[in-house]
Amino acid sequence: MKCMICENFSLLHICRPCQATHLTSSLFKRKISNNIEVISFYEYEDIKDFLLTKHTDLGYYIYSIMAQNSFALFAKEFAFSHAITSIAVDDKPSSGYSHTALLNRHLQSKFITPAYAKLRAKNDVKYAGKSRDFRLANPRGFTLAPIKTKEVILVDDIITTGTTLSEAIFTCQKAGIEVLFCLTLATAKIQ
Ligand SMILES: [Zn+2]
Repeated sequence: MKCMICENFSLLHICRPCQATHLTSSLFKRKISNNIEVISFYEYEDIKDFLLTKHTDLGYYIYSIMAQNSFALFAKEFAFSHAITSIAVDDKPSSGYSHTALLNRHLQSKFITPAYAKLRAKNDVKYAGKSRDFRLANPRGFTLAPIKTKEVILVDDIITTGTTLSEAIFTCQKAGIEVLFCLTLATAKIQ
């Protein structure tokens, strides 16, 4: 096949040199509710074209490549005093896979065990392009299934206003689960 960027022959949808050029991740940090840190690996604008593949046939492959360049590298370096669980925000499959479950799966490591179908939204409201006021007025209504550990890492694909993650954190805290920090693939500026 051909690399989707340089169109050279490649066994991957994005060849290794193009991954190095376009998908070398950084750590962008910000704080949300109760001072919980959100670490993001890319700026939204820098990977927008890749993120837009989410609901296409390519989405699964492109998200896997992005996760290998970010979540998997983070997990490899991450050390903690004991094993913890990572859970993804609303990992319901759509377009044949769940993009947040895919990101979460790449955290599998010595100290992190991904758990699936734990945090699901009751409200399918779409936040893309919507204001903070709209988001606050239309909560996702998360339900949390039982988790084996008392500490978790929360995983999502994009943080914009932080409304979704704040609500997810609150849902965990209500159930007596401590959120150590959150990881997102991209951080977007509020429009
Ligand atoms: Zn290429």
